[in-house]
Amino acid sequence: MSLIVQKYGGTSVGTTERIGNVADKVAGWRDKGNDVVVVVSAMSGETNRLIGLASDITDKPSPREMDVLVSTGEQVTIALLCMALEQRGYPARSYTGSQVHILTDSSFSKARILDIDNQNVQKDLSAGRVVVVAGFQGVDEHGSITTLGRGGSDTTAVALAAALKADECQIYTDVDGVYTTDPRVVSDARRLNKITFEEMLEMASLGSKVLQIRAVEFAGKYNVPLRVLSSFEEGEGTLISYEDEEMEDALISGIAFNRDEAKLTILGVPDQPGVAHKILGPISEANVEVDMIVQNIAEDSTTDFTFTVHRNDYDKALDILKQSADELGAREVNGDNKIIKISLVGVGMRSHAGIASKMFETLAGEGINIRMISTSEIKISVVVDEKYLELGVRALHEAFELEKSPQ
Ligand code: ASP
Ligand code: MG
Repeated sequence: MSLIVQKYGGTSVGTTERIGNVADKVAGWRDKGNDVVVVVSAMSGETNRLIGLASDITDKPSPREMDVLVSTGEQVTIALLCMALEQRGYPARSYTGSQVHILTDSSFSKARILDIDNQNVQKDLSAGRVVVVAGFQGVDEHGSITTLGRGGSDTTAVALAAALKADECQIYTDVDGVYTTDPRVVSDARRLNKITFEEMLEMASLGSKVLQIRAVEFAGKYNVPLRVLSSFEEGEGTLISYEDEEMEDALISGIAFNRDEAKLTILGVPDQPGVAHKILGPISEANVEVDMIVQNIAEDSTTDFTFTVHRNDYDKALDILKQSADELGAREVNGDNKIIKISLVGVGMRSHAGIASKMFETLAGEGINIRMISTSEIKISVVVDEKYLELGVRALHEAFELEKSPQ
C-alpha cells in the first residue's frame, strides 16, 4: 500500500461535473488500496475574479485582507470534492491550510512554508478517510491566513508529500506530461517518461511552464518523486526524480526556449578591475535581472561587454547603460530586443563531448547566425534573431532525434 499526494489544478476542478470526475479518479486510487491526500486549487478563473473584486474597491488593499480574500477559492473546492467523494461512498474530510496547520512566515501573498503539523491528516488516513487539503494557503504564527504565491497549490502538494513521506506526489493538470519541447512549435515533440529535477528546473525557468518552479525545487530538496499527469486522459505522465541509469542513455532531454530576451552591449570600456561591477552594479540596483554575460578579450586595453535581460526591462537597462558609458568613457552602447534564446538541456551532456558542435553545425546548416553562447554542465544556450525561433528549435529537435525514445 502506498501513500499518494495528488494535486488537481483549477481547470481540473473548474465545474461541479469536473469535481465529480476528480472524485472518480481519487476513488480509483483508493480502490487499489492506496492512502490518498488530495490538494486542490480554486475553480479556474476564481482567484482572478476575487482579485478583480478587490481592485473594484481599492488600488491598495491591505496584504492581510487580500490573502483572506483570495484563499476563499480553495475552501469552496475542498468542500465540494469531499461531498462528491462521500456521495460515492468514500469517507473524506476537508482541511484549510490553517486547519492542517501549514505554518508559514507572514509575507502575505508570497509566504514560505516553515512547518507542517500533519497529525490530523495522519489520524484521518488511519481511519480510512481521504484527506482533502486547500492548496495555496497557510497560517502564520499570529493565526493570520497567508497565501503562497500564484500557482502555489503545487507547493502545498509537494510540502505535504515531503512532510508525510509520501511515495509519490502527482500533479494533475491539463497537459499529459513534460514534453521534449513545446508541441505548438514542434508537432512531433515527445512526452518524456522521466526527467531529473535539475533538467526540469532548466526547462521550467526557460519557459516550459508546467509546474511552479518553487514546487520543483522543494521536491528536489526533499527528494519527493513528482509526477505530472493529465486529469482528462489516462497515461503515465512524466516522472521527475533524481538521475537513474535509464536517464543516462538520453544525451538531450529537451529543448527550451525563451521569447522574452533582449541584449545590450557596451563597446570600448577600459580593461581594468572593477569595470564589470561598474556596468552591472547599477543594473542590478534597478532590480533588472541579468541572464547571460559575455566579455571579450581586451584589445588596445579596452574591451566590449554584452549581457541579456528580460525584454520588459530593455528600455530601462539601456538608459542605465548609456549613463554608465558616459562615466566610463566607453565608445558606444547598442542593443537589440528582437532576439530569443534556445537551450539544449540534458544530464547526458556531462559525459558526452560533441553536443555543442553538433548544435552549432545544425544551426549553421539552416543559415542561422548565433549571437551569443553560454554553457553550463547540463545546458547549452544560444541567442539568435527572433525570426529563427521556430526554424532553430525544429532543426535541433530533428538533429538530436528527440521524437524517438532513447532506447
Ligand atoms: N488558485 C491559486 C492561483 O490561481 C493557486 C493555484 O491555482 O495553484 O494561483
Ligand atoms: Mg493554478
